Amino acid sequence: MKIAVFPGSFDPITLGHQDIVSRGLPLFDKIIVAVGKNANKQYMFSLDQRLEWIQQTFSDEPKIEVDAYSGLTVNYCRDNGADFILRGLRNPADFEFEKAVAQTNRKLNHQLETVFLLTSSGLSSISSSIVRDVLRHGGDYTQFVPTAVRVP
Ligand code: ADP
Repeated sequence: MKIAVFPGSFDPITLGHQDIVSRGLPLFDKIIVAVGKNANKQYMFSLDQRLEWIQQTFSDEPKIEVDAYSGLTVNYCRDNGADFILRGLRNPADFEFEKAVAQTNRKLNHQLETVFLLTSSGLSSISSSIVRDVLRHGGDYTQFVPTAVRVP
């Protein structure tokens, strides 16, 4: 069974994330969208809120699981039988960062392959941090996020 983990903060999930997961579906038998818990990071939304939005976004897709984890992504993959990490690439900065992470992960676990999907045109400018900025200043964030993400 080909299992991929799509790790991230998803603070909040955006149309960019949704696109990468949807396009990854034909490649894998199962994709686990895994929210990493990092004690040193300040999040805008609680873990429960972020998980709920992801679950609602993919509620019609049986091949997608949603989970939270802490610690090394490679260990989470091993514990869940995943041989693949799925990531998205938006720009050269993503590439440089992702290259270092993927090469390190492969040193930690030689079985693990990171699969990159290029952002779809029109979605490359979307990031969770920009969505948070728009939200903080009262802008229309709804055009950047799945319909499940609504902030009262
Ligand atoms: P992290 O905190 O690990 O960067 P994010 O939630 O910001 O987590 O992103 C998770 C993954 O989604 C990363 O691989 C990132 O490159 C990808 N991603 C985020 N936004 C987009 C987008 N607009 N298009 C394609 N991939 C994206």
